[in-house]
Amino acid sequence: MSPVVSEEELKQRWERTVEALVREGIIKSEAVRRAFLKYPRYLFVEDRYRKYAHLDEPLPIPAGQTISAPHMVAIMLELADLKPGMKVLEVGTGSGWNAALISELVKTDVYTVERIPELVEFARRNLQRAGVGKVHIFLGDGSRGFPPKAPYDRIIVTAGAPRIPEPLIEQLKPGGRLIIPVGSYHLWQDLYIVDKTQDGKIKKNSWGGVAFVPLVGEYGWKE
Ligand code: SAM
Repeated sequence: MSPVVSEEELKQRWERTVEALVREGIIKSEAVRRAFLKYPRYLFVEDRYRKYAHLDEPLPIPAGQTISAPHMVAIMLELADLKPGMKVLEVGTGSGWNAALISELVKTDVYTVERIPELVEFARRNLQRAGVGKVHIFLGDGSRGFPPKAPYDRIIVTAGAPRIPEPLIEQLKPGGRLIIPVGSYHLWQDLYIVDKTQDGKIKKNSWGGVAFVPLVGEYGWKE
């Protein structure tokens, strides 16, 4: 028996994963379900990991980083409550998968910042292969946000910070929302939902415990 899993089998396994996330109430909206089906995770991993892409756990990507587990990505996208036309910044491009999903949800340009050059290239290749056109990747320290395109309706950080970076709060529009894991270096964080009210007040809520690789940068962890 060939160890290579066919494209059709990968697709079917992915569809079963998505339907399980819907049944479990993790994917709540039809929009997130459709985005997951449009951009399956196996398009955003190296070939040797494609057969594992339907598993609900993180997988390795180059440079010692990870592509998050499907349930974690779904939880963050549901919390972000993305609507067409919203301007979104993602910090931590990684494989480009989450950025592809965001672009399908907002139907407009998405900005994403990655600090590791190898991953900028990896994500570019993946996005091209998946036919995603509206994701703009920038190499840099996303703990500073991305001022050229600010302010944002939503900022989604996919790495764990020691505290909430002030520039990210500043770069939120009134009524905007930041989703960010904040906690200890050793992979354990609280997933914070940070809302900026119309009059500029900040409200923080924790969704609960999560485990992300560290956000490394001026407003993150030091290298
Ligand atoms: N969103 C990614 C995806 O869909 O594959 C997964 C992101 S991975 C869990 C976290 C990423 O954050 C890594 O690629 C890491 O290099 C990146 N990162 C860490 N600190 C960063 C920073 N200050 N600025 C930009 N990217 C950063």
